[in-house]
Parts: sequence; structure tokens; C-alpha cells
Amino acid sequence: MTHTTTTVDALYTAARELAHLYPRLTQLIHEETNHWTDPDSPKRRATTYGAPWNTPAGELAHNIHTQVRRYETALNIRLFGSAKYRGTSDALTVQAFNRLAVLIDHAHTQHIDSTDVTDAEQLLLAWPRQIRLMLDEPKPGEEPWTKAPGNLCCPHCDRRLELQPGWQHDPEAADVVCRRCKDENGEWLRWVPGTWLLVLQQPA
Ligand SMILES: [Zn+2]
Repeated sequence: MTHTTTTVDALYTAARELAHLYPRLTQLIHEETNHWTDPDSPKRRATTYGAPWNTPAGELAHNIHTQVRRYETALNIRLFGSAKYRGTSDALTVQAFNRLAVLIDHAHTQHIDSTDVTDAEQLLLAWPRQIRLMLDEPKPGEEPWTKAPGNLCCPHCDRRLELQPGWQHDPEAADVVCRRCKDENGEWLRWVPGTWLLVLQQPA
């Protein structure tokens, strides 16, 4: 396996991207888990449905949080014979991304061939894409989804409802879709135009 300058650049680029993507991923966990019990209740308070790490965003964040520390430790030991404990905050996770890129770069320079190095490299390069998918960011060249007008939210999860790419071509037939909730067939929940307003007004 050869390691070109491009590969090394890609590692540092991934670490830089993760510095802003990872905090947004952890922000998403809070959005996913905080629901109002009853908006009209006088004792209005947030409740949490399930542990944060049980949501898809939580699982990904937890996985990245664990793996970046695991490989940072493994490469530090391999390269320098020792490793320091990395604390658990998000800021320290962001530092670990940069450090991991540096360590992989060092390992390549010293021609250290180990599965720890190749695994760490694959993970670091894959994380930005995985987070983008979770944040629903369109890939370059892909048409984005449009937020439904009027701040409309899903009655089940409170996420903003969206119009599918291309809805402009036939707005009369454009369903609004929740891209988080799925029906028993694994399809996203959708409301046809004209009826979804009624659906939203129904009590849960
Ligand atoms: Zn929903």
C-alpha cells in the first residue's frame, strides 16, 4: 500500500471537517431526545425518551468518541511506547481527531505497517461522510430537500417536515415528509397536501 501526499492531506482535511461536524452531531442527539410532554400543560417541562446513546445519532457519536480514543492510544503506544488518558469532553474528542491524523501521518513516515494504522485511517476518512448522512446534508450535486413552509413539524418527533427534491415541478402533489419517522413498511411518514394540516392539529 502506497501513501501519497493526497492521502495525508485527506486525513488532515477529515480532522478539520470533524471539528465542526462532530459538535453538530452531538447537538442532534439533544434535539432527538428532548420532547415536550404536553405543550399546553402548565407544568411545561422536557422529558427524555430513552438514553441519548440509544438514538442513531447517539450511537454514531458514541462509536466515534470511543474509536478515536482507542486508536489514538494504540498509535501512541506503537510510536512512542506510551499513551496518556484522553478525557471525555467533546472538545477533547475534536483534539483527538487532529492528533489521530498526526499519528497516522507519523506512522506512514516511519513505514509502520499495522492494521491499527490502516483501520484508524479508514475510520477517520469515513466519519465526516457518516456524520453528514446523519445530518441529512446533501452530497455535492445532489438536490437538497426543502423545509416545509410555516415551521411545520412532525406530530410524532417534532422534526421539521420537508418537501422532496423536485417538489417544485408539481407542488399540488407534493407530500410533506418526516425523514425520521417510519411506518410499519419502513417508509418515511408522509402527509398529502391539504390533509396534513388536519393531521397536525389532531391530538397525539
Ligand atoms: Zn417524525
